[in-house]
Amino acid sequence: TLTLSRRERGKRNLTIPPNKGGKKMENFEFYLPTKINFGPGVVEKVGEEAKPLGKRAFVVTGRKSARKMGFLERVEKSLKKQGVTPIFFEKVEPNPSIQTAQEGANLAKEKKCDLIIGLGGGSPLDVAKAISLLLTNPSPLSQYFGKNKVKFPTLPLIAIPTTAGTGSEVTPYAVITDIENTSHQKRIIADSHLFPNKALVDPELTLSLPFSITSDTGIDVLSHAVESYTSNRSYPLSEMIALRSVKLLSKYLPYVIDNPRDIEGRSKVLYASMLAGIAIAQTGTTLVHAMGYRLTSDLNLPHGRANGLLLPWVWELDLPGNFEKFANLTKSLGGNVKGLTVKEAGWKGIEVIKEFLFRVGLPKLNLSKVKEETIVEFAKEVMQNKAKLANNPRQVSLKDIIEVYKKALWGT
Ligand code: NAD
Repeated sequence: TLTLSRRERGKRNLTIPPNKGGKKMENFEFYLPTKINFGPGVVEKVGEEAKPLGKRAFVVTGRKSARKMGFLERVEKSLKKQGVTPIFFEKVEPNPSIQTAQEGANLAKEKKCDLIIGLGGGSPLDVAKAISLLLTNPSPLSQYFGKNKVKFPTLPLIAIPTTAGTGSEVTPYAVITDIENTSHQKRIIADSHLFPNKALVDPELTLSLPFSITSDTGIDVLSHAVESYTSNRSYPLSEMIALRSVKLLSKYLPYVIDNPRDIEGRSKVLYASMLAGIAIAQTGTTLVHAMGYRLTSDLNLPHGRANGLLLPWVWELDLPGNFEKFANLTKSLGGNVKGLTVKEAGWKGIEVIKEFLFRVGLPKLNLSKVKEETIVEFAKEVMQNKAKLANNPRQVSLKDIIEVYKKALWGT
């Protein structure tokens, strides 16, 4: 047998032309202006991190949990120690409205705040972004729905997530509900001005999440990672990040469901959430998110749960759009693909993701009462979401979307 020294092996490999045995390098742009501090206890750094950004911090949070869990106290203490005055706004509801954001912006202006801190799940973080926008740009907020409509740089923003879910701490998105619109539509502001300046990503803050929120928000992470990985806007770096997120989740989300007080497990899941956020910040989401919004606004399903309900069926629909990617996802989700062809592995993924969703607590829902005309109305609206449809790995029709809703809601 021929034995080669490492040096010789290296030389041999160097003789492989770079366009053989791998995909061609593509041009890409990766943008993440957020400084990230990650790890148990980093919430205590908020004072230090806030000090160079402002003197009066408007702290945006939810109605209950942040105070109840003692997070506000920790933030207050750290800010005061550095001479930063906190002003608390504890009014953000789940799926927050334009009105809440405007009310917060009015108060922040009145109190002459020069820095915004978002502390909470995706809802408070998104409102914090909207407030930072409204302090330097004219109202109403609705004029910024869509992409790149923000005119002036927003007020400095620090994001501190308390759910392992949205990844909003590292995305340029704010999802706000337009309650004046009859369908209570969830609308997105997508603008690079909305990237927080700093993110304090502290797994200690997620130890108190109850089972149902751990499950719903964890499923949201999976949805982000799968959608980003399969998005038409993905590229090798974003794919690597998204796939890593899927791998971590497949291992550790079931673990934290069973061991909610385990800081190492919570760290892994929060890290997966942040990675998925970084990935969607580059690629956007696809059909699952486009279809999920109305299930939240009209059927009152938590955001992650709505996505979880749709994921296997969108997988089935999108599969022929990119068998290879879905096969890789099957493997990353822990599915045994040994001996299977790429197509077979992709198909197998549908069962693998269903089992995973069941394992991490996606409830069996009876939504058979949702009427056909409601489904058709939802589907027609999805067809208007040109950006997400363009991201989707397969071009889909109104009929396809109606079918997916029926499978997900009626089980047919
Ligand atoms: P959420 O912020 O609405 O919070 C859900 C519940 O969790 C609340 O009742 C809250 O009190 C509770 N909670 C939060 N942290 C807790 C803790 N540590 N302990 C105990 N309870 C806690 O839920 P979410 O899923 O984090 O966010 C959903 C929102 O984010 C939706 O509006 C969604 O559309 C949006 N979103 C935004 C982005 C983005 O990039 N900006 C991405 C995905 C989703």
